[in-house]
Amino acid sequence: MTRKNKKSSRSSSSQLAPLLGTLLVVAAVLLWWFDDSISPPSGPVNPYQPVNYQPVNPYQVVTPPATPAVSPQPEMAVSSTSSPDSSSSNSSMTPVEPVSSPLNADALQSAAQTKRQIGTPTEAELPAGIDPTGTSLAMAVPSSGAVRPAIRPVVDPTKLQASDPDGLKLIAGFDCSPKNVVVTSTGPAQFEVRFPSGRDNTGFFLFRLEHANGKEVSITLTNVPEKWKTLNPVYCHSIDLSDLKNFESHPPEKTAKPVKAPNGPLLPDTAGEQWHFIENVTYEKGRLTLIHNYESDAISIAMRPPFTPEYLTSYTDSLRGREHVIVHDIGITPEGRPLQVIQVGGEDEKSLREKPCLLIYAREHADEHDGSWVVQGAIEYLLLEETAGARIRNFLTLLVIPIYDPDGAAQSTYHRIVDGFGPNIRIPECDQYMKFFMNWLNQGNRVDLVVDLHNVESSEAPHLSFGSYPKRSETMSKAMQYLHTLIQAQMESFGFKSPKSSWGGDNYFLRMTSIFQYQFSAPWILYEVNSQAPQRHLTTAELRIMGAIMVETISKYLRSREFRPLSITATKKREERLRRWLYWNPELHLENEFFGPYDMERAIWVSGDPEKHRTSKRYPLYRDLLKTKFPQFVPKESLSTTSRKKD
Ligand SMILES: [Zn+2]
Repeated sequence: MTRKNKKSSRSSSSQLAPLLGTLLVVAAVLLWWFDDSISPPSGPVNPYQPVNYQPVNPYQVVTPPATPAVSPQPEMAVSSTSSPDSSSSNSSMTPVEPVSSPLNADALQSAAQTKRQIGTPTEAELPAGIDPTGTSLAMAVPSSGAVRPAIRPVVDPTKLQASDPDGLKLIAGFDCSPKNVVVTSTGPAQFEVRFPSGRDNTGFFLFRLEHANGKEVSITLTNVPEKWKTLNPVYCHSIDLSDLKNFESHPPEKTAKPVKAPNGPLLPDTAGEQWHFIENVTYEKGRLTLIHNYESDAISIAMRPPFTPEYLTSYTDSLRGREHVIVHDIGITPEGRPLQVIQVGGEDEKSLREKPCLLIYAREHADEHDGSWVVQGAIEYLLLEETAGARIRNFLTLLVIPIYDPDGAAQSTYHRIVDGFGPNIRIPECDQYMKFFMNWLNQGNRVDLVVDLHNVESSEAPHLSFGSYPKRSETMSKAMQYLHTLIQAQMESFGFKSPKSSWGGDNYFLRMTSIFQYQFSAPWILYEVNSQAPQRHLTTAELRIMGAIMVETISKYLRSREFRPLSITATKKREERLRRWLYWNPELHLENEFFGPYDMERAIWVSGDPEKHRTSKRYPLYRDLLKTKFPQFVPKESLSTTSRKKD
C-alpha cells in the first residue's frame, strides 16, 4: 500500500533553517578539524566563516585522483556513446541530457486492458555473466518454501540488568539493545557485561544507566572482539531515543580541537552534539573498560549513536509536513513496525520517468546504525532550499530506506532478512519491498542506481570504505569503480578517510541489490561507514555531511556521459519488463500464497523466453508452478520469434 503525503507547508522553511545552518557550519568546522588533525593551519582559522561552504559544485569538473599501482585505474564505463576525448578527465563529467523513456505506461496499460497481447515480447538484455535462474542461485536457495527468520531468544531476562549496592542500575535488553548479554554488578559503580560469542551478538550495543548522576561508573564489556580496541562508545543525557532533539547538532561559537583518547583515536569536539564520546577506554584481551563521570541520572550508552525504529517514526512524521517529500508507507513488519520508503524530489510524473532515480538504503544488516545517519543527511541536504540541495532535486529523484529491517534493528540482530529475494523465498518485509518497487516500475518510474550502506565496527577500516559492487558485469563493474573514485575524492577533500580500493565480494544473489542488478539492470554499490574509525571518530553531524557529499556526487555522476550507456541499457530493460508485465498481467496474482512477487517477476521472463531458460535448473520449477497455478501462463514454445543464443 502506498500512501502519498505531499503537502506544501509554510513552516517547512523555518524547520530547515537551523538544519541549513548546522550543515554549513559543521562542514566548515569539519574542514578545519581535519586540516588541523593532519597539519596545523598557518594563521588564524575561523571555522565559522559561514557561507563559503559549497560541499560540491555539480558543475565543477571532478578529476579522479591519481591511482596507486596496487589499484587498477578504473576505465570509463563504455565508450560507445562517448566522444573520442571522453577519457580525458576534463570532459568526463560533462552533464548530458537524461535518457528519457519513450514508453507511455498509461497507453500501454489501456492497450493491455483492451487487448491482452500487445505484441510479441522481444529478447531482453539480461546482464551477462550469470543466469539468476541457474545453478549458483539454486544452491543458495533454502529447500523449504516459507522462510521466516528466527527471532533470537532472550537468554535470561533477569540477567539483562543489575544494580550496585547504591541503586545505580545498568539495563540492557530493550529495543536495539542486546538481548543475550549477562549484566552483573561487580562493586560500587562497577558493572560487567558479558557478550556471547559470535558475530551476530557483538555488532552493536546500547545500555541505560539509572541513578548515575555525579558517579564515576566503570563498565567492562567482556568476551568482545579485538576490533573494538579503538572504540570510544558514546553517551547521551537522555533515555528517550525517539525524541528528535536528542540527535540534533548545534555547533557552538567556539569549537575545541580534537583530543586524542587514551586508546588512540582522535575525538571531535561534541559540544554542539547530544552524544559524546567516552574518552577513558582501555582494551585488554577481550575486555573493553569504559570509565566516565556522568552528570545526569538517566543515561544512554551506545557503541555508536543509535538510530532506532522509534526515532525513524518520529523522523518520518516530521517529514510528512515538508515540501518535496513523500513518505510511502509500504507495509507493516511481522512485529508491527512500519515499513517505509521516503521519496525526495520526483515531483511529477514526467520527472519520475525522465530524471534518474537514486535508491539509498541502510540497515540491511539491522544493527549497523551509522548508515541511517548518512541516509538522513542525504534527505536533509536535498531539502535545503538555498544550496545545491534544491538544484539536485531538479536533477534526480531520491528514494531512501533508513532502516531496511526495523524488527531486526529492534532485536539488535545483525543478519536476518538480508537474503530475502529468490525463487520460493517468502519473507514478509522483502515481499513488501519487492511489491513496492514492482509497482513503482509498473507506473513507468525508474531506479538507476542503488547504494547499500553498512558499517564496520571500529578498527577494521576508515570512515568510508568501498565494499562491493556488481563484479560479474564488466560494464557495471567499471562504472561503479569509476563512481567510487569520484565519491572517494570528494570524501577525502572534506577530510573523511576513504581508501581507493574495494575489499568486497559479489556473492549477494539473494539481496535486494541483486534484484536491481539482474531484474531491473540498475547497478549497485555497497559502502561501509565507520563513525568509530581508528584514526578519528565522527559525530552524527559529520555522518550526515557524508550523506550530503554522497548524494551530491552521485547526482553529478548520474547526469554524466559515463553513466549514459548504463542508463540506456536500464531504460531498455525497464521498457521490455513493462511490456512483458502487461502481457502476462500477473499482478492479479501478487497475493498468491505460493507464488510470491519475486517469482512473479522472474516468471515474466522465464515463461516468455522458454528457449532461453529451458536449460536452467529453475525452469522446471517455474514451468510446473505456472502449469499448476496459472495454466493460462504456461510458456508457449512459439511465443518468441527472435532467434536466441544457447545458454
Ligand atoms: Zn553489514
